[in-house]
Amino acid sequence: MPTHLTVRGLVIRETAYGEADKLLDLLTEHGIRTVRARSARKPGAKYAALTQLFAYGEYCLRQSGERYYLDSAVSLNLYYGLRSDLEALALASYFSELIRRTATDQPQPQLLRLFCYALHHLSEHDRPPMMVKAVFELRLLTELGLMPDMLCCKSCGEYLPASVLFRMEQADFVCADCAGSEAAAAQDVPGSASVLQAVRHVIFSEYDRLFQFRLKNEALPQFAEYTEHFLLHQLGGAFHTLKFYRELTGSGEPGSAGAV
Ligand SMILES: [Zn+2]
Repeated sequence: MPTHLTVRGLVIRETAYGEADKLLDLLTEHGIRTVRARSARKPGAKYAALTQLFAYGEYCLRQSGERYYLDSAVSLNLYYGLRSDLEALALASYFSELIRRTATDQPQPQLLRLFCYALHHLSEHDRPPMMVKAVFELRLLTELGLMPDMLCCKSCGEYLPASVLFRMEQADFVCADCAGSEAAAAQDVPGSASVLQAVRHVIFSEYDRLFQFRLKNEALPQFAEYTEHFLLHQLGGAFHTLKFYRELTGSGEPGSAGAV
């Protein structure tokens, strides 16, 4: 007996299948489900928009054994602003690779939430793409239980030093005074007090305030360099979508030294 279920989901991968079908990787609150959408590639297909990459909707699925089939779908957000912006699309693809690398069978509703917030800002073009990327990386690690210890300088206990050194191996920071007395590891990243405050904000904020901050001048690239280094250090391996994003934006190798 097939069973029916309705889930909120985001299409994070679409693959052509058979004559005119698609296989969708749907990120739901219960994890990733692979769903077969029959005839989705036929001209004029009813759910063409909802079976394309980065569509977010409510999907009615039929489960038969281990397989899921799409019965019907209702749109929640198609993120139209993404579709004409190659940089935004490249970042969304990078987020998708990160999620596919780290998602488990366990329910992780925060991952779907994070992805949808990030796509919203990429689509609306109301935050710098570099900021959306950095917030996504750091909050993803936080949701996975890999957040850094940002309480205070690990050596002297100062809460908000004017400048700090973010340490990768220790997943913490020391103030510039304490850092002066020890050799920094190659992949460690310096930052200002405003970068430290941004890092704390992204780790602890509620979702509705997650993207509600601004970083001026060199603080944003510092923040972005830190989150990328920290993510690569924590997750290891290489991400080909990140390489593509760097080639597209001319941003070079990952923070040069020490990247995995
Ligand atoms: Zn210190």
